[in-house]
Amino acid sequence: METVVLSFSGGRTSAYMTKYMLDNYKDKYNFIVLFANTGQEHPKTLDFVHNCDKYFNFNTVWIEAVVHHGQRKGNTAKVVTYDTADREGTPFEEVIKKHGVPNKSFPMCTRELKQRPIMSYMRSLGYKPRNYKIALGIRADETRRVSTSARQKNVIYPLVDAGVDKDMILDWWKDQEFDLEILEHQGNCTWCWKKSDRKHFLNIEENPSWYEFPKRMEKLYNHVGPQKDKSIPRNFFRFNRDTETMFKLYELSKNNIIPISKIEHGYGCSESCEIFPTEETNG
Ligand code: SF4
Repeated sequence: METVVLSFSGGRTSAYMTKYMLDNYKDKYNFIVLFANTGQEHPKTLDFVHNCDKYFNFNTVWIEAVVHHGQRKGNTAKVVTYDTADREGTPFEEVIKKHGVPNKSFPMCTRELKQRPIMSYMRSLGYKPRNYKIALGIRADETRRVSTSARQKNVIYPLVDAGVDKDMILDWWKDQEFDLEILEHQGNCTWCWKKSDRKHFLNIEENPSWYEFPKRMEKLYNHVGPQKDKSIPRNFFRFNRDTETMFKLYELSKNNIIPISKIEHGYGCSESCEIFPTEETNG
């Protein structure tokens, strides 16, 4: 039987995809459900993954990146559980310590925290990359996120093939016993550098403590990794803005000194954290 990794990111869509595949194709494929924890997820995301195991028997394997410092060795993975999963950002900090602060120019956090650990975990089970497929939770209404080189990478998009869109997924979740209890601007890593300024400002207003982690990372590691101009530190946010600048901009926009429309330039539709990204989403 062919093996398929169901890449469960902790969101409603990938949970739906996992349930759909387990319900409909269990006889055809050997499924392995994987959730790669960054340590900066919303606590309710972890609860949601846990509930999917409890209510739907996903049997998710929770993994975290293990970084090998001072070696030319890619990240491997360790298996954790709902109880032992990191909530402090330790895997993320280890990645930053080695590769520097991720941002639009250096969008490597998904690759280092999710993609490589997933591939390493599969290698530890004896699978070579060509021997299994990876299913990603991309919907039929977001085909721009489908990688053009998906076939070469053995990546499949079951919800695109099945024509499942956002409304269908949201409707389905309304009927379930539990749901992901967070709003859109709170998802993924809570302070993810890919979020729009609008979402950052909402998060800063509601949960300023989420930004202590990126602020600390910039202080400790903004000189790590390649940079066109070594005198310019590497920061997280759009236009290489640091966390403190984001707080200042939030204040300016809150007091209407500068309207958000003047702060938020050219934000595309690229907020995503899928492994094997398209060239557009890149990261
Ligand atoms: S892209 Fe965003 S959500 Fe994904 S690992 Fe990086 S910071 Fe976290």
